[in-house]
Order: sequence, then C-alpha cells, then structure tokens
Amino acid sequence: MASRNKTAQASIESMYRVFTVPEAPQSTLGQVDEYISRNLAGFLQEHIVAVEKDLNEVEKDFSDSTIPEKPIFVSEQAQFLLDKLVAQSVHTAAPSFIGHMTSALPHFMLPLSKIMIALNQNLVKTETSKAFTPLERQVIGMLHRLVFQEDKAFYRRWMHDPFHALGSMCSGGTVANLSALWVARNLAFPAEANFRGVNREGLFRALQYYGYQGAAVLVSERGHYSLRKAADILGIGHDYIIPIATNRENKIDVDALRTECIRLRSEKIKILSIVGIAGTTETGNVDPLDEMAEVAREFGAQFHVDAAWGGPTLFSRKYAPILKGIEKADSVTIDAHKQLYVPMGCGLVLFKNPASVNAIEHHAQYIIRKGSKDLGSTTLEGSRPGMAMLIHSGLRIIGRDGYEILIDLGIDKAKAYARMIEAHPNFELITEPELNILTYRYRPDYAAEALKIADDEHRKKINIMLGRITKYIQKSQRERGKAFVSRTRLNPRQYEGDPCVVFRVVLANPLTTEKILTSILDEQVEIASEKGISDEFQALQKACARVMSASKSQQVAASRS
Ligand SMILES: *Cc1c(COP(=O)(O)O)cnc(C)c1O
Repeated sequence: MASRNKTAQASIESMYRVFTVPEAPQSTLGQVDEYISRNLAGFLQEHIVAVEKDLNEVEKDFSDSTIPEKPIFVSEQAQFLLDKLVAQSVHTAAPSFIGHMTSALPHFMLPLSKIMIALNQNLVKTETSKAFTPLERQVIGMLHRLVFQEDKAFYRRWMHDPFHALGSMCSGGTVANLSALWVARNLAFPAEANFRGVNREGLFRALQYYGYQGAAVLVSERGHYSLRKAADILGIGHDYIIPIATNRENKIDVDALRTECIRLRSEKIKILSIVGIAGTTETGNVDPLDEMAEVAREFGAQFHVDAAWGGPTLFSRKYAPILKGIEKADSVTIDAHKQLYVPMGCGLVLFKNPASVNAIEHHAQYIIRKGSKDLGSTTLEGSRPGMAMLIHSGLRIIGRDGYEILIDLGIDKAKAYARMIEAHPNFELITEPELNILTYRYRPDYAAEALKIADDEHRKKINIMLGRITKYIQKSQRERGKAFVSRTRLNPRQYEGDPCVVFRVVLANPLTTEKILTSILDEQVEIASEKGISDEFQALQKACARVMSASKSQQVAASRS
C-alpha cells in the first residue's frame, strides 16, 4: 500500500513538474505558438513568486486609451504580452506561493484547454454545444454522487432528464452561492392560488402575501462575502445575512444558531437558508454540518453548504469524515478552479433534489425551450464555456485516487507546518489546520510570556504591536519575491477577541516541500531583524518588560501582605 502510494504520488507530482513543449511548428502561427509555449514553460518553471516592480510602473504599459487604428502582427502582440504582461504577472504556480487559494495546475490542462477554445461551444443550449451538454450533465452527476452518494439507478434516472438538473455550472463560488440562495428564496415563496410566486411578483409582495416582516440567511461569522452580494441582488439585504458566533475552532456555535432562529421566528422573519461552511476561506474550518442540517429541518429552512474550498476533501478516505452531514444539504457549492485544479472561472452548485432548480427555471422562445436538454434554462449565466470538459479531464486523468493524494498531501503538509511553527520560538500558531489552511503570526518568546499575564489594556497593546510586525514581514516577503503568504485579521478567542494580524497559508501545491516551508520561516525571521522594523521591536520589548516587572512587583507585594 505504502509503495503503491509513493508511485501514485510521484505520478501526480509529475503532472505539475514536467512541462512539455509542443513539436516544432510548420506555419508562422505555429511558430508563434511554439515561441509562447517555450516562454511560458520557462516562466512556469521559475521558482520565484513575483518580480518586484511597482504597480504604478506597470500601469504605464497599459495607459493608452486609444484603440489602435492599424493592425499589428500576432508575433508583435505575443512579444508584448510576454514582456509586459507575463513578466509582470504572479507565479501562482510557484511552490513557495502559499498565500492564496489560486495555485498550480497540472500541466495537461493547458493543451486540453485548447480544444475548448478551438471549438468555442456555448453551453447555454444544445444547438451550440451538442455533446458538451451531456458531458456537463455527466460531470455534475459525478460530483453529485461524490457528495450525496445516491445509487446508480438515481443517476440513470435523473442525470440526463430534460425536466430536471442535478446542479448548475457557473463561473465560480460566488455565482454558485448566489444560485443556491436564489433557489432557496424562490422555494420559500412559491406560487399559490392567489399568489403567482416571488419570481413573478417580487419579494415585497411575497412577504406581504405570506405574512412575513423580512427574510434572512444564517451563516457563521466566518461566512464568505459572496453571500452578502447574493443577499443584495436577491433583495434580501446585507443586514439579513445574519452572522452567528463561532467557537474556538472557528466553527459555528449551534446553540447560538438555534437561539437566533427562535428570535427570527418570533419576529416573523422567514429563514430562507442556513449556510454551513466546509472550509472557511480564512482558516479552513468545517462547521458541524450534521447538527446544522437538523436545525435547518427544525425551522423549515433550506440547508446550503458552501464547500467552495473544502468539497474535494470528500475524495480523501482519511479526511472525508470531517464533512459528515454534507449529504444532508439541499445544495452544495464546489469551486472547480480551487481544489479540482481546473483553470480559473469554473464552479458549480449541486442540488440534492433534481427538481430544486426548477424554482429558477427560465425559458425563451428561440432557445432553452421547455423540455429541451438545454442547460441554459437553469443557470444564472447565459452563454457559458465548456469548462466541464476540463473537470471531466481532471476526474479521469487524476482520478479519485489522485485527488485523494492531492488532498492528503495538502492537509498532512499543513499539519507538519503547524508543528514547525509551534516548535519555533518566534512564531505562534493562531489556528490549527483542520484542512490545508492555517494561520500564524510573528511573536517572539518574551512576548508570549508577557501576553500570558498582561491585563486587558496591555494585552491589546502588545497584540497591536505584533500585528504591525507581522504585517511588515508579510509585505516585505512579498516584495522580495521569493515566497508569498497572505495576511488577514482574526479575533482569536485565546486573546479575548483582540484583533490580531496573522499570516494565512494555503497548502494546495503538491510541489511545496517541507524544505520550502522551512525557508519561508527562515526568511520571515531574517526580515524581522531588518532596520525598517527595529523601532517597533524596541517598543514591543519595552511594553513586555513593563508587563513582566509590574507582575513581579505585584507578586512581591502579595507575598508581603
Ligand atoms: C472562494 C470561495 C468562495 C467564492 O468563490 P469564487 O470562485 O471566488 O467566486 C465562496 N465561498 C468560499 C468558502 C470560498 O472559499
């Protein structure tokens, strides 16, 4: 088993490592193609994150607002793009780029994506996509099965049914979440004898008719900001995305959730949806989905799971149990351009019930007619590319086995990094990785001592100072261009909710080694000794010393009395 895994892992890694340049070309366009490929290969294999050039400088290359009168050669444009655009883009594929959810792609995606561009299919209707439509339905079916695990007969029955859909494909997690809440809203206020449905009469009339004072969506305070956008568009309003407190592990407090539901019910506010998160964007934690499903059922709300990041964890036999309860969701968002490793611009929402999407069905005379297999009748977007082809390719070329390896590698590596941070005198782990995301900050050991005993006022002060130091290190490291971690602000329980600036790390690139992680910490330590931040350190030392001596004199006073 272990040796089989080693071979399998090596084969997955080679998909990221080996970049092949196409055969020598015959035509001029072919030459351009070959030239670009060679240059991109070079770019992708460089292990630096960014060449530091001020964005204001870069802007100068893109400052002319006139549309060129005369055409130029493709080769000329290609050279421009390589020099000005590629050279000043970010190496999201670099193994030391561990700050964001955007990471390396397996290299087979590049040649295969040419098929998609070449054919230029439009998935809004079968007339412009033919085989791409059943392919997309199959991909949605496969991912539906990964999440909901219905039996074969279920998929035979529903996958290609013209009056139903198991999900809706879109450009990313934002539109997926919006689509899910759109369905939830429409299901909450359906048509009846004297009401034509919220989709026709609007939210104001719907609330009046059903006797509500408003409509709300509940999600933990770690919810993604896309939910607020959705609430805005759907006429619910931001203020009705109700943030529920989280516990120490950044998971929703289910008691607080239930209490809020009771309050809303007494105020005649309709609960459209309760949203569980499988992989919070900042800390990678997973809500107790099982318990949330129960609360949703109790209050007659839809249960949506935002698994934009964490969904593919289901491929891992070891870690899938963390997502227990996801199969009870009414809808689930998965971002394919995150942990399914397909190119940017691909997400989907899955619906447990094949009839759910009928709540947002739209028809037109010339296309997406009722009863056609056109996917456009149940998607928010109209014209859409055949991205499903690339999910299909990933699922077949990488396979369940391969995705399992990718997931396990990331989570195990995050755990290893957490241990490195904990063992280091100058760093503090702020959030333990549950999936492959963790946060930490710069905190010398003398500050740890002081924080333990400081009163509220001094603790806050020290946390602010540590925040400035962490921010400085993060910015300098990015500017140096060798490595990148991101930065966010959390309110950790261990510091009574003080705002704390932290480094945020996302480990999704299989080529990120522990050696690279060590060198990232080393560089951060090195930056901390720079002159630019020495004043801040002096202030910190003073503040910590003051806390220590105050506590000592208190102890002395206490022992005397
Ligand atoms: C990334 C993410 C989103 C938004 O997805 P986009 O693809 O950026 O639109 C929503 N929710 C969570 C939890 C995410 O991680």
